[in-house]
Amino acid sequence: MPAPFLIAGPCAAENQTQVVETARQVVLLLGNTVIFRAGVWKPRTNPNTFQGVGEEALLWLQQVQKQTGMAVATEVATPEHIEQAMAAGIDYLWLGARTTANPILVQQLADTIARLPQNDTLRGVFVKNPVNEDVQLWLGDIERIERTGVPAMAIHRGCAHRPCWAMAHTFRLTRPDIPLLLDPSHLGGSAAKIMPLMHYARDLAFDGAMIETHLAPQDALSDAPQQITPLRLKNVMDTYPLPYGSTEQTELSWLRAEIDEIDDRLWDCIAMRMKVSERIGQWKKRYDIPPLQQSRFNEILEKRIEWAEQNQLPRTLVESIFRDIHAASLKRQE
Ligand code: PEP
Ligand code: MN
Repeated sequence: MPAPFLIAGPCAAENQTQVVETARQVVLLLGNTVIFRAGVWKPRTNPNTFQGVGEEALLWLQQVQKQTGMAVATEVATPEHIEQAMAAGIDYLWLGARTTANPILVQQLADTIARLPQNDTLRGVFVKNPVNEDVQLWLGDIERIERTGVPAMAIHRGCAHRPCWAMAHTFRLTRPDIPLLLDPSHLGGSAAKIMPLMHYARDLAFDGAMIETHLAPQDALSDAPQQITPLRLKNVMDTYPLPYGSTEQTELSWLRAEIDEIDDRLWDCIAMRMKVSERIGQWKKRYDIPPLQQSRFNEILEKRIEWAEQNQLPRTLVESIFRDIHAASLKRQE
């Protein structure tokens, strides 16, 4: 397996100049072992936004292959996309996070790959984790692709612009034989988060990265806030050069990543709780009700203590945290 992989290129192929010029800069700065990516068909949330230019963009990717010697990759989401991409000699395909959430569709795509005569020139299929945090679904997707005989690789692209390290860790432990890449662009949703996320990529010994790279990120027609210039990509890769070997520290780093993620969610939940509490405070003010409702407080505290016992958490810990949160809430409502 030719790991490590660095996949770089724009979120979407927008026009010939943008594709060819971005590729020219990438190959000049990082060499032709980079796999050049560009989305031809874009799975966008909003139908009023740019949906990708479609089949025509495959010609621009062919031009990149010829002019730079880089292998090229694009996202496929229907059997027709696969037929067109494979007829155009695209080297690698990837399945996006919305596609990999649907096993019936993934099986259809795998069947299409298996039956196409050009599949011996297909160098691999990258499988992004599904949008819903479901490691079994992701592992199942990998297995469906593996059965086609084409190499399958995995990409951790996070869940709703946040990492789901626990899921990626389970994936790694279950299938250490499958190359696992990090996509800090979609995971973080912001150009500023790429460097710190690549720190994780190194410490967790990922087998490479997919990083959205655009000639002029501010003008990008999709995912503008998360794309970086080829020059910034060079800076990122000079700071965290591939390959990232695994050491005895790697497992500890994974566990710490899991803890960091849980802490982030914990504090986000507390901040969210505070916001709802503020709205309750406004309601109470409107109806001239004092912030503290002793019976309601007793009721939710009792419930929480019961929960603590069922979940083998010390009652004193749960009670003291809850009292602190509640006190801060009351203060906000006053
Ligand atoms: C992409 O890589 O451009 C993309 C749409 O990614 P994801 O499926 O991870 O959202
Ligand atoms: Mn994108």
